[in-house]
Amino acid sequence: MIASKARIKFNRRLSKQLGYRIPDGAFHGAVLDALATRIVFDLFDHSTREQIVSFHKTFLDCSCREHPFCGCPEQKFAKEIIELRESGLNHHEISAYLLDLFGIEIFPADVLSFLEDTVHLLEAIEEIAGLEGETVLVDKTQEHIAAIEGKKRT
Ligand SMILES: [Zn+2]
Repeated sequence: MIASKARIKFNRRLSKQLGYRIPDGAFHGAVLDALATRIVFDLFDHSTREQIVSFHKTFLDCSCREHPFCGCPEQKFAKEIIELRESGLNHHEISAYLLDLFGIEIFPADVLSFLEDTVHLLEAIEEIAGLEGETVLVDKTQEHIAAIEGKKRT
């Protein structure tokens, strides 16, 4: 899962603030829990606060009962990467963007292999949809494959 490759940049400061050490995985349960509930924003500098707010808005805004352990944050992260790619950013730019906006560190190579895996998955879905005569789904998967592969840039 791509979310397990993401680390949070302000992990050390977060640990210090909470008074106990938390893992550096951006989507680790302890980190999500801290970001969802226990954060004292005032103790962070302005730019980190902005990153925490963006993280919150983008990945932690669901109202599931198990929130933030419902799986939505990880799914939203995967979706965010695909959307960034489809909007024309390459894997280096996506990595830089995630760091800048959310304080999330992830290697460009991990972004790239995730996008390749996503294309393979979409191709499998496309094939099955084709066999089942689900033409709308075939069109949709083809659209996303082209967008991720960058063949349909305007
Ligand atoms: Zn949820």
